[in-house]
Amino acid sequence: MISENLVMISENLDSIRRVLPPEVKLVAVSKFHPNEAILEAYAHGQRVFGENRPQEFAAKAQSLGGLFPGGESLPCPDLEWHFIGHLQTNKLKMVLPYASIVESVDSAHLLDAVNAWGSANGRVIDILLEMHIGAEETKQGFHEEEILELLFNAEKYRGVRFCGLMGMASHTDDEDAIRADFQRISLFMDYLRDLFPEYSAFTQLSIGMSGDWKIAIQYGATSVRIGTAIFGPRAY
Ligand SMILES: *Cc1c(COP(=O)(O)O)cnc(C)c1O
Repeated sequence: MISENLVMISENLDSIRRVLPPEVKLVAVSKFHPNEAILEAYAHGQRVFGENRPQEFAAKAQSLGGLFPGGESLPCPDLEWHFIGHLQTNKLKMVLPYASIVESVDSAHLLDAVNAWGSANGRVIDILLEMHIGAEETKQGFHEEEILELLFNAEKYRGVRFCGLMGMASHTDDEDAIRADFQRISLFMDYLRDLFPEYSAFTQLSIGMSGDWKIAIQYGATSVRIGTAIFGPRAY
């Protein structure tokens, strides 16, 4: 099963690359897949990977390497790790030493903790604010007015750099609903760019997964996070 999936990884990457505009970053979501799958994608030119569980993230970064201190002497020295999952504040040290960016800052409590960790460690951590756009009843993610409030007070946060927004569309086959979600975050992103021209780093819009990334690029995605369509189904 695994070896069959490995064969498909290069083909899957090729077929995505044929469609993905070159300026849109492809984050290969490798969660639940073994290092062999990551190495296969890496050998086929993929450099950006996303993980959503702190322990798995740390273990993979420590064994494969990447763009973090110490990561340059390991097998994949130029691999860029994105953290994309729910992060509890007691797990920061498993994630922040290795992450090029945390895409899933979904609460003020987490933001404060990441900011404090960055300041305490002499770092400025790149983050995206996760915006709640889907229909699912989840407490995770910010609403528009909360994001505005944070950005108006951005100078309070010396340990993080606000790099943009991340969102997940409703989990549905209804394409109109997905479009409405992407439209909402995309318009809000445009609004924020106009409102805060001085935040020159606030440029990234991370929307789109295996089922909806082709729609997301129509709404200004600057990166897409694709797992299943690259690595095949996950064995939970
Ligand atoms: C798992 C995950 C993805 C990738 O999902 P696929 O449907 O497998 O492409 C993207 N974003 C987040 C936040 C995820 O947790």
